[in-house]
Amino acid sequence: MAHKAQALRMLETYFGYPSFRPAQEAPVESLLNNEDVIAIMPTGAGKSICFQIPALCKPGLTIVFSPLISLMKDQVDSLLDQNIPAALINSTLTQTEFNKAMYDVRSGRVKLLYIAPERLSSNFFCNVLRGLPIAQVIVDEAHCISEWGHDFRPSYRLIGDWLNELSKRPVVGAFTATATKAVERDIKQLLGLSEANVYITGFDRPNLSFSVVRTPKRMDYVVDYVRRHAHENGIIYCSTRKDVERVYDNLTRAGIQTGYYHAGLSDEMRKDMQNKYAFDQLQVMVATNAFGMGIDKSNVRYVLHYQMPRNMESYYQEAGRAGRDGAKAECILLYSGQDVRVHKYLIDQTVEQSLGDPRVAEQRKLVELKKLQAMIDYCFCSTCLRKYMLAYFGEIAHWEQCDNCSSCNAKGRRVNVTKEAKAIFRAIIATEERYGASMICSIVRGERTDRIIRAGLDALPVFGYLSNIGETELKGLIQQCIASGYLRSSMGKYPVLSITAGAEEVLAGHKEVEEIRQEVVVPSRKTKQSASISRSEVSRSGSGGLFEYLRQHRKRLAAAAGIPPYIVFPDTVLIDLANMRPTTLGEFGNIKGVGEAKLKKYGPTFLEAIASYKG
Ligand code: ADP
Repeated sequence: MAHKAQALRMLETYFGYPSFRPAQEAPVESLLNNEDVIAIMPTGAGKSICFQIPALCKPGLTIVFSPLISLMKDQVDSLLDQNIPAALINSTLTQTEFNKAMYDVRSGRVKLLYIAPERLSSNFFCNVLRGLPIAQVIVDEAHCISEWGHDFRPSYRLIGDWLNELSKRPVVGAFTATATKAVERDIKQLLGLSEANVYITGFDRPNLSFSVVRTPKRMDYVVDYVRRHAHENGIIYCSTRKDVERVYDNLTRAGIQTGYYHAGLSDEMRKDMQNKYAFDQLQVMVATNAFGMGIDKSNVRYVLHYQMPRNMESYYQEAGRAGRDGAKAECILLYSGQDVRVHKYLIDQTVEQSLGDPRVAEQRKLVELKKLQAMIDYCFCSTCLRKYMLAYFGEIAHWEQCDNCSSCNAKGRRVNVTKEAKAIFRAIIATEERYGASMICSIVRGERTDRIIRAGLDALPVFGYLSNIGETELKGLIQQCIASGYLRSSMGKYPVLSITAGAEEVLAGHKEVEEIRQEVVVPSRKTKQSASISRSEVSRSGSGGLFEYLRQHRKRLAAAAGIPPYIVFPDTVLIDLANMRPTTLGEFGNIKGVGEAKLKKYGPTFLEAIASYKG
């Protein structure tokens, strides 16, 4: 296993990590053995190291196909900062820069060359590539090859043909975080990877905590949250451009350095916002889902969703942009009932506009509505959110409680609502499962509407049985009963409720129903900024002040070098520095994530900063 020892040495020397993560070992080993690989790993799992280390170990060049200029630049900047010879070729290069890059590549100086797949449409460029000693080809964000993926890029289809035309096929590795079977099938087929080793890493992200907050005062919540996390970077996702601008205005008025990003801005403006955010010049970014794949920023400490997204796939992808560096991060979804109405309307609109055949449209709509229901169920799930989420993606979690989500941490707030649930079930049965949530609510609340009186429903024994409970609360309980499998909701335009065997068990007295009472957190906007660092790693040891001091130091160094701060060191390294307070380069070098090049470049200045800190 000589190459394994070499790989570990490279990992320590260049990246400062003592070992591979378990999920990295197999793909690294396969690539080192020249076996094709498809690796499906969640964001933050450490995909890049899986091919960067083999690239360093192998003689010859590694070509990395990457979809976005910003992603390429980020990776290449980061590699160069670690003294790893990398280069990129994309449409932004001048002829001179292009010639220089090609010269470096030809002379064998470059180990990793990042290119956009569009380049393959140029015969000239393909000829240039043909003359190079290509050791391995990596297709990053490989889901872009599939129409089933969310970021389909037709130019990714050029890669397969190009590989076939090479006189000697290099080993190929495809990496992505998108795990559906359809995408995997396309990757295999279109890149000729039917024989590849496929590695799928679990989707759990233990460093992320997940919460759902149901509050009608979302804006107050957001402003307060961002204020309380004044020294942390976050993203706030909104469904519409209008909301992006509203949240942006409110945060800016509260004195917070805020950026905004949506598809309505010019390219230039978007680039500027993204850069400022990467360079920590903005504390928080308010954005629609247009703010996406290009974000490689590892120190995003929270992702708030101002509205519920349309499905779990989008939610997990967006929330997953938090905590890529492995340090603790928070994902909070703010739910309000009106989100459901907006999504249903949008599903109606988009499906009808995009599909001619009404039967296909209807089917598609049902799929979308089912996905939406799964998203709503997440918001009302009273058991472990993380377990729910993993189950949605086809994984079985081996725990009952993760203690890191709002359901598991709601111990004191669980209330027995069996009596209320039974009344709802009885109302549904008494009306022969003909009505939806609004009508059932009206019945149990005892509302004498025309419709109810005409149908004689005011004569039902359950009529007015829950007149003391508010409409929102009752609708929440109904949603929770759906999420817990006591009730079913049909999918059509006018969804009706029906009961399940679970509800019958409750009615028979064999089962109790529990609800998590959401404390509606509506902090005053006048709240003072409290302890800035909620990150438990530093606050527990009382090193928050030093952490902040080092963060500012990192920001200055990064600005001077023209690279984003997280490329100098990720937050995890700063946390360790704040906790361990090294005094020598030797101690500094022992910190995880500090490789030789970085130690030499940044060690002395950080040691000085630590020594000069008077906290
Ligand atoms: P992905 O591309 O899968 O989202 P990255 O390649 O950006 O993930 O890696 C996420 C973070 O994990 C980075 O900060 C990276 O330095 C860190 N990391 C990667 N491999 C290791 C390892 N073996 N030990 C510790 N940290 C690692």
